[in-house]
Amino acid sequence: MHEVAIMQEAVRLAAEAAGGRRVRTLRLRIGILSGVVPEAIRFAFDVVTRDTLAAGAALEIESVPAVAWCAACAAEFPTADFFSECPRCRTVNGGLRRGREMEIASVELE
Ligand SMILES: [Zn+2]
Repeated sequence: MHEVAIMQEAVRLAAEAAGGRRVRTLRLRIGILSGVVPEAIRFAFDVVTRDTLAAGAALEIESVPAVAWCAACAAEFPTADFFSECPRCRTVNGGLRRGREMEIASVELE
């Protein structure tokens, strides 16, 4: 389950930023096409924060909708897949502007 490895890294970064203080809230930004499953992330969070400065912290997940970009006409449009047809010029594209991110949005300390 790669969510555990992802959370381990996120919690490590959060603890580093906390500099010895307790983490109250960790906010993540997860793209809908990132391949990361929010339920698995929540489970992994509980496991990897045990006995750390982030133990008992709240986890907030901000879901980022996917936005594609057309290489032919430069239009940006919402999508639900890696490949999609441009609504303006009908070119099929594989370019994504957003939707693949998995990052820390913010860390709130006590
Ligand atoms: Zn286009």
